[in-house]
Amino acid sequence: MRTKIVAGNWKMNKSFQEAEELIGELATKLEDKELICEVVVCPPALYLEMASDYADESIFCVGAQNVSEHEHGAYTGEISAEMLDSVDVDFCIVGHSERRKYFDEDNYLLANKVNRVLDHDMIPIYCCGEVIEEREKNIHFDIVEQQIKEGLFHLSEDEFSNIVIAYEPVWAIGTGLTATPEQAQEMHAFIRKLVAKKYGETAAADCTILYGGSCNAQNAVELFAQKDVDGGLIGGASLKADDFIKIAESF
Ligand code: PEP
Repeated sequence: MRTKIVAGNWKMNKSFQEAEELIGELATKLEDKELICEVVVCPPALYLEMASDYADESIFCVGAQNVSEHEHGAYTGEISAEMLDSVDVDFCIVGHSERRKYFDEDNYLLANKVNRVLDHDMIPIYCCGEVIEEREKNIHFDIVEQQIKEGLFHLSEDEFSNIVIAYEPVWAIGTGLTATPEQAQEMHAFIRKLVAKKYGETAAADCTILYGGSCNAQNAVELFAQKDVDGGLIGGASLKADDFIKIAESF
């Protein structure tokens, strides 16, 4: 079902103590809020269990930043979907551009990660987006189309109904350069059309598509006002409770 979502990707930031402070602050400050979106907090894997304990008493959900493409076994250092599920993780980011760039994750490997997450009844937040050179060459629609087709379109219609897509132009991530609301809307509408072509109009209308890339408390209202933008995947601005909550109030 199409839901408004604001998800915070903490990336590799904060000590355990700092993480617990921020989660506690979020839990307290969200207590009296009546939000029309779901709030998802994605801390480093080490803090997921602690975050889940706080989430039990609060309105936010917990997401992981990554998952292994393997079920289980001799994969030193990896964390499986089953493990995430066992500490009550609800969402998992798959295919963040930093994973694609620094860990060579391609669309086919990501398709396997999506499968693992779905196998354990969690919701993948599947990231796509072009680098600046691709936008300059005017091939950004082709790039996003390929990422979505190869990473997601092996799914059945039923499986696809549990997918959240995050459009994150790579040139806007952590750079302070935000896509204009028009650029975001244009790509989100394009993605929705791709989904309609593959799975039908109802599936497309029900698909949640988030924007990510230097979204903050100042620009969120205008971005979220776009017809096909259903919320945001937030990096830097999710590290401060007040900023993050203000973004969640931007609908
Ligand atoms: C992200 O990491 O997904 C992201 C959007 O980062 P930032 O908001 O800092 O650009």
